Amino acid sequence: MNKNDIYEVRIEDVTEEGLGVGRADGMAVFVKDTAPGDLAKIKIVKVKKSYAYGRLEEIITPSSSRVEPVCSVARQCGGCTLQHISYESELELKKNKVLNVLRRIGGIEEPEKYLEGVYGVRRPAKDEASQEYCPYRYRNKMQFPVGIREGKPVLGFYAGRTHDIIPISDCYIGHDINKNIIEAVASWIEKCNITVYDENTGKGLLRHVLTRVGFETGELMVCIVISGRKMVREKELIEFLRKAVEEYSSDNSNDIDIKLTSVVYNINTKKTNKILGDETKVIYGSEYITDYIGNTRFAISAQSFYQVNPIQTEKLYGKALEYAGLTGDETVWDMYCGIGTISLFLAKKARKVYGVEIVPQAIEDARRNAELNGLTNVEFYVGKAEEVVPRWYEEINGSIDVVVVDPPRKGCDEKLLDTIVRINPKKLVYVSCDPATLARDIKYLSDYGWKLSNYSIYDQFSRSMHVETVTLLTT
Ligand code: SAH
Repeated sequence: MNKNDIYEVRIEDVTEEGLGVGRADGMAVFVKDTAPGDLAKIKIVKVKKSYAYGRLEEIITPSSSRVEPVCSVARQCGGCTLQHISYESELELKKNKVLNVLRRIGGIEEPEKYLEGVYGVRRPAKDEASQEYCPYRYRNKMQFPVGIREGKPVLGFYAGRTHDIIPISDCYIGHDINKNIIEAVASWIEKCNITVYDENTGKGLLRHVLTRVGFETGELMVCIVISGRKMVREKELIEFLRKAVEEYSSDNSNDIDIKLTSVVYNINTKKTNKILGDETKVIYGSEYITDYIGNTRFAISAQSFYQVNPIQTEKLYGKALEYAGLTGDETVWDMYCGIGTISLFLAKKARKVYGVEIVPQAIEDARRNAELNGLTNVEFYVGKAEEVVPRWYEEINGSIDVVVVDPPRKGCDEKLLDTIVRINPKKLVYVSCDPATLARDIKYLSDYGWKLSNYSIYDQFSRSMHVETVTLLTT
């Protein structure tokens, strides 16, 4: 295969980045702007050892799963990668991704036998009865970079793989209040001559605008990230924001009333890709907003980790709870517990829940959230799960009935898996955001007699290829 060769390929799959995958001369070829099912004429632009990149020349027969993107910048933006594919096909792709790795890496012969369901995002409508699939408007947290384009300040999103900002105020995966907020901030920048941070020179004040919305409570937080220690023109900013929320609320076709609950600024003076610095100061209202997942209440500050798709999270954690099968007598460990979302869910049904998490701030939030919900049967530890749990187990040597893990993408540490084998709980509930490492860990545990007994797939990040799985393992 050589550069500039022309091929006709059938697109069969899609990568994490949203590139279509076809085969030519026994090699995988990645082609932007194609959809699974397309028959496409492509030109090879780059050849590697075992794969190649092609450019789309012509679609000979379009896939039946193609749809028109809802967003005008879907192609340039680095956010959504699947807007040109129907949501039904997206769910199918995600299902196949999980089935493939369970087969290939997990060594499970017929993974479809254990699959309970694939749960897509449904419209968070008032009329629950008519809930239909709606892969948009699900995110409760948005982060808009601010920059300069053609000499003018712009707010929007980064184009894929770059730091060029595409100006856009209304992102379809976020709450529609964001449009009003972004327009208000843009007016503030213009009217008050707010300077904008330049990544190259490090000069200028305003870096990012971060928003969080409680989908149950309607509470809104706006966080202005600045590259300096001193905030400017606060009064005017708040005036613009209040007007924006008022205007939004005057249209009573909205699902919930939005309340401007918290305006804060965050200080980030470092030359870094990290959005938030360590210090946050309140300029209006409260330091945090609150929201519910199910009937558990959470306080969320600018820096707190909080699941970005609360509606799906409730369903996913509900399933985790079902798999845990608690009766009220159990001792449960929630490993990689974050701010304790799962721990608090479990605590309502268990005798005692222990959580462990590496980030101290998250554990502070977890403890506060336990208190907020009046739960006294949870205890949290800061540290690495693979270190804290073996030590605890050696000292106490009590029995643990159920273990829940919800690790980051790299999956569980082997030392932790060894400890779980030693603890030998009745049930292991594995919540995973990366099916490949889930499959690897299942394979590892299978050598010690653990078996996959049931699993469900939840779409938490529609329009991207990320997929969440909740799995029940037993011996
Ligand atoms: N269930 C949590 C989210 C889990 S995300 C919630 O809903 O809030 C994975 C978490 O694992 C992150 O909070 C991350 O900080 C933590 N983590 C990463 N490595 C860890 C380790 N070795 N030990 C314990 N926690 C870890």
